[in-house]
Amino acid sequence: MIQTNNQHILVVGGGIAGMMLSWHLYRSGVSFKILDEGYRSASSYQAAGLINPVTGRRFVLSWLYDQLVTYAERTYGEISDFLGVKVSREVRFVRDFSSPLEENVWLGKCGQKDYAPHIYWTRDIEIPGTVFSGGKTYGVTRGKRILSSILLDGWSDFCRQNGFWIDGRWDRPITESMPIELDGEPFDAIVFATGAARIWDQSWAHLPLIPNGGEYFIVRIPDFHTDYLLKRKEVLVPLGGEMHWFGATYDWDGVRQRPTAEGRNYLEESLKSMMFCRYEIVEHRLGLRPTVKDRRPLIGVSELQPRVYFFGGFGTKGFSLTPWWASHFISHMLRGIPLSEEVDLLRFHTR
Ligand SMILES: Cc1cc2nc3c(=O)[nH]c(=O)nc-3n(C[C@H](O)[C@H](O)[C@H](O)COP(=O)(O)OP(=O)(O)OC[C@H]3O[C@@H](n4cnc5c(N)ncnc54)[C@H](O)[C@@H]3O)c2cc1C
Repeated sequence: MIQTNNQHILVVGGGIAGMMLSWHLYRSGVSFKILDEGYRSASSYQAAGLINPVTGRRFVLSWLYDQLVTYAERTYGEISDFLGVKVSREVRFVRDFSSPLEENVWLGKCGQKDYAPHIYWTRDIEIPGTVFSGGKTYGVTRGKRILSSILLDGWSDFCRQNGFWIDGRWDRPITESMPIELDGEPFDAIVFATGAARIWDQSWAHLPLIPNGGEYFIVRIPDFHTDYLLKRKEVLVPLGGEMHWFGATYDWDGVRQRPTAEGRNYLEESLKSMMFCRYEIVEHRLGLRPTVKDRRPLIGVSELQPRVYFFGGFGTKGFSLTPWWASHFISHMLRGIPLSEEVDLLRFHTR
């Protein structure tokens, strides 16, 4: 816990993690600045921004879903009111089953108390030009989409207008004796919310944070309209007009800095197996997800410097996880409320 009454916090990183941290600091009346190097391959600018209750091949309800998403919905609603622009919307995913077994698992879950509010099945969906036609049974999931560029640009504009934003890169190592300051401006604490970019910062090298590559397409599909997000292996997300987001790959060797030929072939095959209508691949892009081997966030204090913290490791779910964990982390940093052991990076400390 930091000890002063009038805290002034430096947040390094203005992706969804840094945005959520600074939003909670602002709402708590705590002074802050965000330092961001404008790295646009950062995950938050590439993501589809989806919050999907049921994920994976076995259709498991996401970790702490009700608690996290109830809080996230409220937070995104408050941010929309504050910025005067809607930053999230309700969506429905329609899902094709790859086998009768998969279909049975889904139908069984639809009847269970925990799952029933989130998923159902139907035979009524017809989306011409896609596999979602022909009177088969499809699974449907209720979820959310966070409009990440509107959210992040809206918040950074607000921060810039109020002098809370600094363009630049943090490039000093973290040491026991380091001054907690930037260009002569003192801070009470520094929080690194640097996403997968941490691989370029040796100070956090002991943390098992693995950059995971996600390649995706921006696709133009003329004369094609549906409100559903179409999910097979990958998901097709309407962006407005003819433009769609389609992806993404999941590459554990996420050391690549550019989209690959393999990724392109994989996505082309996947798109072809779902869409029979005419489309054009407009762009092929890559983002790096900050994933952790035990699939839990990495939050807590540096083992070298008690006024330096890390807030990251949000993997594939930054948009549902960061609101709740930002609130939890700030209660810890400012008021000494113990961090949940499940997310505390102490689990990986070397000392
Ligand atoms: C293709 C793809 C699709 C995805 N889809 C979804 C989805 O649908 N739903 C979902 O919830 N999640 C999704 N994710 C995951 C999600 O994007 C991440 O969990 C989340 O964005 C991580 O946010 P972050 O702020 O921790 O990191 P980042 O988004 O990587 O942000 C880090 C920020 O730190 C800054 N920075 C880094 N180092 C420095 C430094 N030294 N000095 C100054 N600034 C620095 C960078 O400029 C950047 O702005 C997806 C990811 C990818 C790649």
